[in-house]
Amino acid sequence: MSERLGVHALVWTGQNSVPAIREALTRTDAAGFGLLELNLSAPEALDVAGVAEVFAASPVAPTASLALPADHDVSSTEPATVRRGAARLLSALEALEAIGGGQLCGVLYSALGKYSRAATDAGRRNAVMVVRNLAQEAAGRGMTLALEVVNRYESNLFNTGEGALRFLDEVGEDNVLVHLDTYHMNIEEDDMSAAVRVVGDRLGYVHVGESHRGYLGTGTVDFTSFFRALGEIGYQGCITFESFSSAVVEEALSGTLAIWRDLWTDSDDLARHAGRFITQQLVAGARHD
Ligand code: MN
Repeated sequence: MSERLGVHALVWTGQNSVPAIREALTRTDAAGFGLLELNLSAPEALDVAGVAEVFAASPVAPTASLALPADHDVSSTEPATVRRGAARLLSALEALEAIGGGQLCGVLYSALGKYSRAATDAGRRNAVMVVRNLAQEAAGRGMTLALEVVNRYESNLFNTGEGALRFLDEVGEDNVLVHLDTYHMNIEEDDMSAAVRVVGDRLGYVHVGESHRGYLGTGTVDFTSFFRALGEIGYQGCITFESFSSAVVEEALSGTLAIWRDLWTDSDDLARHAGRFITQQLVAGARHD
């Protein structure tokens, strides 16, 4: 399988300990993936040197995403909250650099969670400023950012690819791209191909997830249209399989994402199936003429 294809760590483990990541790397490699996406939501707690060492000993490369809690919300109007969030984002960027990764993705612009009111102009300005500063820090390290578009229950700043482009224009940094996730697109976009075409060459990262977050092809996501559109725009970036089950729990993230159901229990079977599914879809999608 391709070195562009990855699997989210939560397929394997809810732990970020060195032994847990070492085992996740072994299983990621055995399932044929070239990337392991770490959850860097709590970078302070990570043994960065230890994790860097296990990645260096593995053929699997690192990538990372994260989610900010409400008390670290960079789209807040409370300065101390924004500062805490910005500091955590920088810690995550530094950790990923030390581990050898080049692209930080996920919801880097907002808390991850249900907002009960629309975003404010002042809050949006804070989010733009924080992402711009983080992008400049990333550029100095030769790294890029990709902002994940999530559904209405997980952020109030933007929920579509088109909305993400407007936000990127306000940020105004070349190394900030869009991160699309089929699970969220299935909720918010008019169709699975239009959003990909709109984002076009500003697409920097992809999460492939089913409508219920379980086995690919067993839900309602129109993967045929999605992968055909990826073929049309000539997307060559990372594609990471993301799936969650109550069988693997990381308390904070699982709670935020509302993972209450046991959609699978065999991580190895799930990942191998996803690898075959994504590879077939990529081959089919490339034949769009
Ligand atoms: Mn995602």
